[in-house]
This record gives sequence, C-alpha cells and structure tokens, in this order.
Amino acid sequence: MGATRGASLPPQTLCMSNVGISGIRTGMLMRKSPFTVCVVGGGFTGSAAAIACLTRIKTPFRLVMIEPSSALGRGVAYGSHHPLNLLNVRTRNLSIRAGQPGDFLNWAFGQLDQGENQAGLHEALAHTFLPRQLFGEYVRQRLFETVARRADFEFTVIAGTALACAIEGDRYRIALDRAETVVADIVVLATAYGVVRSAGTGALAPFEMVPGERLARAGSIALIGSGLTMTDVLLSARRDGFQGKALVISRRGQLPRPHAPKGVVPQQVGLPRSRRVSMLAAALRIACEMAEENGTPWQAIINGLRPSLQDIWQGLAADEQARFLRHLRPFWEAHRHRLPMEVHGRLRAEFSEGRAHLLRGSVVEVTRDGERFKLKLKRRASEEHEIIDADLAFDCSGFKPDLDQSLIASLFARGLARPDPHRLGLVVRRNGEVMGEGGRPTEGLFAIGPLCQGTLWEITAVPEIVAQADQAAESVAALSESEAGAERRAASA
Ligand SMILES: Cc1cc2nc3c(=O)[nH]c(=O)nc-3n(C[C@H](O)[C@H](O)[C@H](O)COP(=O)(O)OP(=O)(O)OC[C@H]3O[C@@H](n4cnc5c(N)ncnc54)[C@H](O)[C@@H]3O)c2cc1C
Repeated sequence: MGATRGASLPPQTLCMSNVGISGIRTGMLMRKSPFTVCVVGGGFTGSAAAIACLTRIKTPFRLVMIEPSSALGRGVAYGSHHPLNLLNVRTRNLSIRAGQPGDFLNWAFGQLDQGENQAGLHEALAHTFLPRQLFGEYVRQRLFETVARRADFEFTVIAGTALACAIEGDRYRIALDRAETVVADIVVLATAYGVVRSAGTGALAPFEMVPGERLARAGSIALIGSGLTMTDVLLSARRDGFQGKALVISRRGQLPRPHAPKGVVPQQVGLPRSRRVSMLAAALRIACEMAEENGTPWQAIINGLRPSLQDIWQGLAADEQARFLRHLRPFWEAHRHRLPMEVHGRLRAEFSEGRAHLLRGSVVEVTRDGERFKLKLKRRASEEHEIIDADLAFDCSGFKPDLDQSLIASLFARGLARPDPHRLGLVVRRNGEVMGEGGRPTEGLFAIGPLCQGTLWEITAVPEIVAQADQAAESVAALSESEAGAERRAASA
C-alpha cells in the first residue's frame, strides 16, 4: 500500500489555538453574523456531523469545531495509539458519506499501487479489515476535502475544550477553557467518551502507552474486561514485547466472537412482538440455532437484526432495558461486536496455549504500588475478596459516554438536556435533537453518536452515526433556510 498522505487543513480554515490564526480565505459571501453551527468534539462523529452539514446546508454559513486534540477525525477509535490495530468491520461496510456505502473502499483502493488485476484487488480489499489508523486518515481527508469544496463557508477550528453552554437571546453561548466564547445558532454535541486523559490512579486507561522495555520486563498483565478493548490491549502488548501471563477478569467471561467468512448475507428474522427482553433473547437464540442447522452462519441473523435494533430498544420499557443491561449485555456485545477471524484466532491461541487466563469476577478496587498494581477481586459466587498483584493493569471495561464533564453538566443544570434513565447518554430524538426538561426538544441542540446510546442503543458504530448525522444536518439545513428567508424578507421590507 502506498504511503497515506497526511491530510492538512483547507485554506479557508481559521485555526485558533494558543499560537493564533494560521490561515483564512478572504472575500467570502458572509454576513456580519453568519448562521453558525458549532460542533463540539472533532472525533469521528464530529467529522461526520461537519460533512453532513456541509452537504445539506445550501446557504452560506460558518462552522466552528471545538476539539482539544490536533488529530481531527480520529478520536479514541482511529488514532495512532496502536497503528496495527485493525478495524472490526470490512472495508466495504464503512463510509463517512451518507448514501455512499462504498466510499472508504474506493478511497483505500485509490491509495494502492493498483497493478493489473484491478477488479480482483478491489474485491479483495472490500473483504479486508484494514488498520484503524488508516480509516482515521480517510476521515480527515474527507473532512478537509468537503470543507475545501465550499467557497461560501468559513471553517474555524478551536483547539480547546468546551466547558459550558447556555442560551443567550436566541443563540447559544459556549464557554471554553480559554478566554473567548463561541456564539452559535446550532450546537452539535459530538463529545462521546470525553477528552482522552490518562487515568492517573487505579488501572491504566486502555490507550495509555507503556514503553516496550517495561512491557518486556512485565511478568503479568491484568486486563479488566473481556471485549474488543481487551483484545486490542493484549495483542498490542504482545506486539510490543510482552511475554508474560495475561489475566483477563470479567463478570460473565464472554470473549468476542469472530466474524463469519466473507459473503454472508444479512438475514431478517421476525422476532415476536414481545416487550420482554428474555422472550426476545430466547427467540433470537432459536433463530441463530436454526440458521446454523440450515448452514447459515448465526452472524447473518445478528446482521439482519441491526436495522431494527433502535425500534426494538425503544419498544422496551426502561425496566426491561435495565434488565438487558444487567444480565444480557455482555452476551449481546460478544456476538454483535465481533473480531476479524485472524485476530480471533490469535486471541483464542492466547487462551488455548496457556498464555492468558480468564477469571470470572469483578474488580472492586485497583491501587498502584510503585510501578506495580494490586487488584481487589470478588469472584463470581463468592463473598470473599482476594488481592491479585500484577506488573500492569488496564481498564478494558469499555468506553462510556462522559456525562460528568462540565459541558454536559451545564446543559443538565440549565434544563437544556437530561440524561436517559440508565445514564448512558442524553434523551434525544432519532435525529439527535436533544430533549430538555419538560420533555420538549431544545431547538438547535443536537447530540450525535455514542451520547445517544441510552435512548437508541445501536448508535455507536460508523453506519448508524453517519445516518444520524445526516438526519441531524437535514434538520439544521431547514433551520438555516428559515433563518436565511427571514433575513431576505427583513432586507426587502
Ligand atoms: C477502540 C474502538 C474501536 C472501534 N472500532 C470500530 C470499527 O471497527 N467499526 C465501527 O463501525 N465502529 C468502531 N468503533 C465505534 C465508533 O466508530 C466509535 O464509537 C466512534 O469512533 C465514536 O466517535 P466519537 O467522535 O463520537 O467519539 P470520540 O472518539 O470519543 O471523540 C470525541 C471527541 O470529542 C472531544 N471532546 C470531548 N469533550 C469535549 C469538549 N467538552 N470540548 C471539546 N471537545 C471535546 C474529544 O477530545 C474527542 O476527540 C470503535 C470504537 C472504539 C472505542
């Protein structure tokens, strides 16, 4: 594969950081106080929201993106922490452009030195699991290309963190961790898992870099959680020189399952119209078993269910959703969020060859003792606590939307947003419109992606985020057009 070009910001971008303004295109058709969309968070979701707004909004406008990291488009999933970590989805199924499902495949194909058998290469690439970092580069390029195509548009990137958001008059005022504030007509929250920080105390965060020399010295690693994040951390540690024992601690002991071989077509099954999660789970299990008996991989059933998952989730009462979260979530996630077969093979070998051990229980506390870690563990079906020592310990229990950060807290305090009953995210409509206190939507305030998990459940992966960003942008475009119309009428009066 040819070297990827590092995408750079297009010329009409205002980069506001502590070092000042780096570039601006002059002569834009902008009014004094242009219609302004502020996207908070510049990871995958923020980029998808920006691209969708640029595609949907036809009148001149200004887009301000607030993001503390310099690596726009990457976020926690597509950064450079471990360049060899692979996507968990085949190339053909990823795209940041709504309505263009093969876009990442075509982009990746364009990066290759294509040789003679172009059709064969395209087909092979479609079924491949490429590095996540490469997907991050694709996201950046698509963002910057889309920005560069619009001349009637100003793009400002603020290298900072949004701390609070309030309504002032008929606009939003967003306070930052620096002197200035942003005034906007629309706010799109794409803050998901919050600002990435080292844990400082307790277990290490999964993305924390440990020097190879320390990994090579380590005799043991404790990994809290047994899903995709654990797999990333363990296999990355192996690549970086770790040769000791891995202890994987998990309440239910569910390891991620593999994807099916290529070419599996999603199959839709009619689940009973039950509002009881136990009934739905039983029906799904039977459907998967029957499919297997008929020679269809169970993965086809899970894939076929995906378009209905938001409906199914919203059809459950809050106590049934809570039951799912308490009892079934680990089983569901192990089957829904799967590994490329080759990665799954390496994970299996860790356990079958005795380099890794699975322990069922919950970690109550992790303390640091110099460079070492002490884990207080409660095994399943035991009231006793035991202490486990490890040279390294990582919290791989999964990324959770950050509702505790001050920006989100300020929205709760002002009644502009409210948390869902499970505190997994905000209460939203399908298109991301945020619901405030009193059950009314807060006009002009949107949340996209993982922040909507409690309301929509199936909203953390690329296709659902892109679809939601597009729906949100459609609503934003309607608001911008009504604003532009009002302005024209005022000017001609
Ligand atoms: C490790 C991992 C691997 C994944 N792999 C796949 C995959 O293979 N296929 C797939 O379909 N999906 C995958 N996903 C799921 C999906 O793509 C992610 O959920 C997606 O990356 C979410 O992006 P995001 O921008 O919403 O969140 P984040 O990546 O968390 O980005 C949020 C951004 O907001 C910024 N931010 C937060 N708070 C503020 C604030 N107050 N002010 C300013 N900025 C702020 C942060 O700095 C951050 O950059 C993966 C997820 C993870 C975690």
